[in-house]
Amino acid sequence: MNANAPIYLDYAATTPVDPAVAELMSACLTLDGNFANPASRSHLFGWKAEEAVEIARSQVAALIGADSREIVWTSGATEASNIALKGYVEAQGLKHAHFITSAIEHKSVLDCFAYLEGLGHRVSYVKPQADGRVSIDAIKALIEGDTALVSLMHVNNETGAINDIAELGQYLREQGIAFHVDASQSLAKVPVKVADLNVDLMSMSAHKMYGPKGQGALYVRRCPEINISAQMHGGGHERGMRSGTLATHQIAGMGKAAALAEQLLDKEHVQLQGLREQVIKGIDALPGIRLNGSREHSVPGIVNLCFRGVDGEVLLLSLKELALSSGSACMSATMAPSYVLAAMGLNEADALSSIRFSFGRFTTAEEIQRALAVIERVYSSLSPNATSN
Ligand SMILES: *Cc1c(COP(=O)(O)O)cnc(C)c1O
Repeated sequence: MNANAPIYLDYAATTPVDPAVAELMSACLTLDGNFANPASRSHLFGWKAEEAVEIARSQVAALIGADSREIVWTSGATEASNIALKGYVEAQGLKHAHFITSAIEHKSVLDCFAYLEGLGHRVSYVKPQADGRVSIDAIKALIEGDTALVSLMHVNNETGAINDIAELGQYLREQGIAFHVDASQSLAKVPVKVADLNVDLMSMSAHKMYGPKGQGALYVRRCPEINISAQMHGGGHERGMRSGTLATHQIAGMGKAAALAEQLLDKEHVQLQGLREQVIKGIDALPGIRLNGSREHSVPGIVNLCFRGVDGEVLLLSLKELALSSGSACMSATMAPSYVLAAMGLNEADALSSIRFSFGRFTTAEEIQRALAVIERVYSSLSPNATSN
């Protein structure tokens, strides 16, 4: 890449595809490769494509400690959450049920609940604590007689805060309440085993773990069995839960990404923790910059910082040597404060002065050092107390 290209610090928006994943994917496209329709049962080409899909299914299943038959391929985590939430409500025939989720979920979950509210259901939205984590006791306190399902993200995409999914999962299992988890930001970063977490439905995205965009999966528990109704009707693929010709190259890519994630998890965690400490140490030396979120209970690769008193838009524009976002990737034309930071209790000015730095597998200590130098230079020129110090 061009030496003047910005440093990529937006891994939470999407990760680059790992070269080993890209190589496998490109071998699933052309006539001399594994290009066929995995549903073609009458020839060798189809059988080979089906085999590639099933290898990938077992790789994703292995990453989360599931059975292959519990993995349903989708186009991403957005679709997985749509099938999970709407599909569960439909399969149960629920008419006026109660649901609990958090105020800091990804839009793909929040918008499903808004849709369900429109159908006459009730939804409680739990605010996070000041450190960005959602209190499990606060969720338990909201459970009512007709609470049918709880949905809570494992790791928040703006702050990196990790929720205690295992504690909630065990409680909900005892209560007989279904549990959906959006694991888009936790897979490949922290251990995610469905048996430990007691989840019933779990959304996954390939492009947050060095796989391709446009591929995801939904975990659907078999024991105790969870039923969901299809939201996409067609040829009855994926045991009727999600129709549509399987994208062999995308699926093989997600499988390979999952296998790499499992293999690299511990090593990568140590590496990213080192980079995180480097960032936090650099930031601690600059007065007026504050960490949004939890120092301890966070994935290492996401650091959300508040540059108090500095306009976020101006800051982002001045930091163009760094490829960053102000929080979630969905930035509108006019800068709106992040609903995640607002829910954590930040005032509008502080939320607007906050920027997310996210890094990953290919980030080097040298890049972090350069990024810190840029931040120091830009911040000292923009900070209101720059001249007074
Ligand atoms: C990226 C992301 C999604 C959406 O995933 P897609 O595969 O892009 O649909 C959902 N939830 C969280 C927390 C995310 O970070």
